[in-house]
Amino acid sequence: MSDRIRCTCRRCTIRGLMGPAIIITVGVLFLFDQMRGAYLSFGNTYPVILIVIGAISLAAAAAPSDGHVSGQVPPAGAAPGTVPPAPQSQFPAQGQGQ
Ligand SMILES: [Zn+2]
Repeated sequence: MSDRIRCTCRRCTIRGLMGPAIIITVGVLFLFDQMRGAYLSFGNTYPVILIVIGAISLAAAAAPSDGHVSGQVPPAGAAPGTVPPAPQSQFPAQGQGQ
């Protein structure tokens, strides 16, 4: 996850909110479960999670993807101090078997 290039377009930003939103929703539903007991028990309120997932997916699909950066794009130019590519072994097949 952290090795992926971070895109800041609206679509990817909204998509990135999915995980935290689900966690917050589950936390609020458990809080209601603790506070109100039977009527707002988690068994009654769990569809809210599906609604939140659907709403965020809908918002992400509708958001513009202007300036979207694909995760496959390598960083522009190797920065100084980075590890250079390993020297080619004379016997590339040797020592690789694992
Ligand atoms: Zn993007």
